[in-house]
Amino acid sequence: MKILVLNCGSSSIKYALYNMDDRSVVTSGGIEKIGLPDSFIKIKLADGKKVQINEPIPEHTKGVQFIFQVLTTGEYAVLKDLHELDAVGHRMVHGGEKFNKSVLLTDEVMADFAACNDLAPLHNPANIKGVNAVKTLLPEIPQVGVFDTAFHQTMPDYAYMYAVPYELYEKYGVRRYGFHGTSHRYVSQRVCEYLGIKPEGTKIITCHIGNGASIAAVKDGKCVDTSMGLTPLEGLMMGTRSGDIDAGAVTFIMDKEHLDSKGLSDLLNKKSGLAGVSGLSNDFRDILAGIAAGNNRARVAKEMYTYHIKKYIGEYAAAMGGVDIILFTGGAGENQWEVREGATQGLEFMGVKMDEQKNRSCRATEAVISAADSKVTVCVIPTDEELMIAQDTLELVK
Ligand code: AMP
Repeated sequence: MKILVLNCGSSSIKYALYNMDDRSVVTSGGIEKIGLPDSFIKIKLADGKKVQINEPIPEHTKGVQFIFQVLTTGEYAVLKDLHELDAVGHRMVHGGEKFNKSVLLTDEVMADFAACNDLAPLHNPANIKGVNAVKTLLPEIPQVGVFDTAFHQTMPDYAYMYAVPYELYEKYGVRRYGFHGTSHRYVSQRVCEYLGIKPEGTKIITCHIGNGASIAAVKDGKCVDTSMGLTPLEGLMMGTRSGDIDAGAVTFIMDKEHLDSKGLSDLLNKKSGLAGVSGLSNDFRDILAGIAAGNNRARVAKEMYTYHIKKYIGEYAAAMGGVDIILFTGGAGENQWEVREGATQGLEFMGVKMDEQKNRSCRATEAVISAADSKVTVCVIPTDEELMIAQDTLELVK
């Protein structure tokens, strides 16, 4: 079975083609800068080499069409014919309260999904464009939607409600939804396979630390709390997002800087986090280089970053009445031992004992990084959202 996974953003489309017989990636890549004259596609070939083709892509249907063309014709072709494709799985961002699992994308489902557009005005319309583009080009092919928010739909009401007038929840759906759900689901399942245990009876804290970062409490395989909220801005300090901030500070900044909601949203989403505090970069590697060069703002940015993760670990251990496994994933969680070390330092009181050597030598590979006699098992599990989407798609079309 061949399954194409699409992740359609407002100006980009990422794709991965899977052969589900052995769960291998046949090819992958992405179009960037859709709508701009210098748009291009990057293709990752089977041998790992990358090539770039410049091509003006004015909108999403043209983008999907170009991906299909690259898959079937020319020197990078991997399919004889598009009909070799069995299904398409889409990453869908905000499923609101309507979707608690992946679904086949019928017209009725798409109408329900479009009703969530208000909650993710930049992302959901781009996802819809991707689904419609495939429908136009391959009307018969089954399409599946896998929602970023779905895994978090098991949170209890006291965890997802905000303490604002209840009518705001009833009128507009103002509540915590959480994001990165496909990643939290994948790694929380995968760690159980890796350790040879069942999800039932386990208390896992999953730390997805990338440019966007979130953390989830997963009890018996189900999410009971997560740090992102109505939008991906809440929770941990991120590359360019502030994470948690006093709402009073928000109105104070708006008044002082004469910002409207758009200006404030830009400030908190794009100019804050590691980039805003350090003044250097949103990339953790640049922060470490800044520290090595004696930059004090880089030091405080790093310490804030890991301190926030540690506080959430404590919070979620309390929420679940303990923790058995803490795992790190995402670009920084997988690759940066400094993040893992900083986030777990001082947690010995709750049974966390790291193996410093194992932690420092682990890079983007599945590993246990706690000491053999640690009560809590600390792991690194590289995430694979695309594989999860391909698997869900296979399940639903099979
Ligand atoms: P993501 O959004 O998951 O791609 O993660 C981005 C963050 O992960 C950045 O802060 C990078 O510093 C870090 N990161 C990503 N890849 C690597 C790598 N190969 N080595 C070190 N850090 C990385």
